[in-house]
Amino acid sequence: MSNYYQEEIETASRDEIIRIQNEKLVKQVKRVYENVPYYRDLMDKKGVKPEDIKSIDDIRKLPFLSKADLRDAYPYGLLGTDIKNCVRIQSTSGTTGRRVVAFYTQHDIDLWEECCARAIVAAGGTNEDVCQVCYGYGLFTGGPGLNGGSHKVGCLTLPMSSGYTDRQIQFMMDLGATILCCTPSYAAYIGETLKEKGYKPSDNKLKAGIFGAEPWTEEMRRNIQESLGIKAYDIYGLTETSGPGVAFECEEQHGMHINEDHFYAEIIDPDTGEVLPEGSKGELVFTSLDKEGFPLLRYRTRDICVLSREKCSCGRTHVRMSKPMGRSDDMMIIRGVNVFPSQIETVLLKEGYDPNYQIVVDRERNNDTLDVYVELNPDQFSDKIADIQNREKSLEGAMRAMLGIGAKMHLVPPKSIARSEGKAVRVIDKRKLHD
Ligand SMILES: [Zn+2]
Repeated sequence: MSNYYQEEIETASRDEIIRIQNEKLVKQVKRVYENVPYYRDLMDKKGVKPEDIKSIDDIRKLPFLSKADLRDAYPYGLLGTDIKNCVRIQSTSGTTGRRVVAFYTQHDIDLWEECCARAIVAAGGTNEDVCQVCYGYGLFTGGPGLNGGSHKVGCLTLPMSSGYTDRQIQFMMDLGATILCCTPSYAAYIGETLKEKGYKPSDNKLKAGIFGAEPWTEEMRRNIQESLGIKAYDIYGLTETSGPGVAFECEEQHGMHINEDHFYAEIIDPDTGEVLPEGSKGELVFTSLDKEGFPLLRYRTRDICVLSREKCSCGRTHVRMSKPMGRSDDMMIIRGVNVFPSQIETVLLKEGYDPNYQIVVDRERNNDTLDVYVELNPDQFSDKIADIQNREKSLEGAMRAMLGIGAKMHLVPPKSIARSEGKAVRVIDKRKLHD
């Protein structure tokens, strides 16, 4: 059985999708050129005028946007319309300098929520469902996106936000939640907690889960499906492209359909920027074809994946993307939060430590752990344990302020971190994140 939220567009012919993309791209490039001086400069530098863009194939003539551009243009430099037309912002959890602030008009919110509604319906959702959303609400896109999608589908929506697991379980059981939306690691955690409390998978009414915002493996999918007794669906999105729902899984659980009427996807060679043929592994690049508030053209996501146009048995015709297989930069995603080693280094230098450190990321009981080992120099080294502990505590406070998540700090004696060719290995990620 296949269900669609917007059947006509979700199952449109290839020709029809290309026709929509052609039309929307020509309009969007014109609008961006007129309204976004930052991107107009990039186009001028590349010698491209809006008239040069006549169809979706011409997209290759346009310049890329990167995370660095978003930083340069922060906060208003990439705004695509007058601020009076915007009704909301969402933002990444990144810290100063890395934060992305995205603007939405009501039209943008509607299209975003429709994309999330498509994902919920693809997971079997109808207006008879009780949809428990335990992604974070507020600036983070997870909660608001799925919340809006759930409303559009007509589900009874439980806007739980993240955390307070006992309360999550109480509402899940008492109200008979049928669809769960959260990060995969939190879903696994809920599953374990249910087991500890003596519940069997058949004791809950859940039938499906929509999980995203962090990498997860097929093994994790199997564990979640077993512990909760559900079918677990993947969902993909970035604040830069609106949030979750840019792509979502259907019942095939074999790649995520990209909502191609709103987002055009390309795969490029991350080193040369060359567009690669279908089926190649490379960096995913997105163009929002009709967003007004934050209309990014050719945005480099840094996610490495593969696109497939192979026919899908669900009847949807939109291209599928694989789960991201890694990243083309050094960003780590820890407990759903983007963390860069450079942020950790910045805190260490500011607090008067040398940049001799090692970051160890692991996953214990489905919860990410972050440990940072920092070598003291001989002047800082002290025999007094209390002294060291106080310093660690103070560093942990500074680290939390920078990263937005807690890190366990370990101050260690000079020269105690193993080095390879004189350099300490900066990051050891022991988690199994990709298949
Ligand atoms: Zn499908």
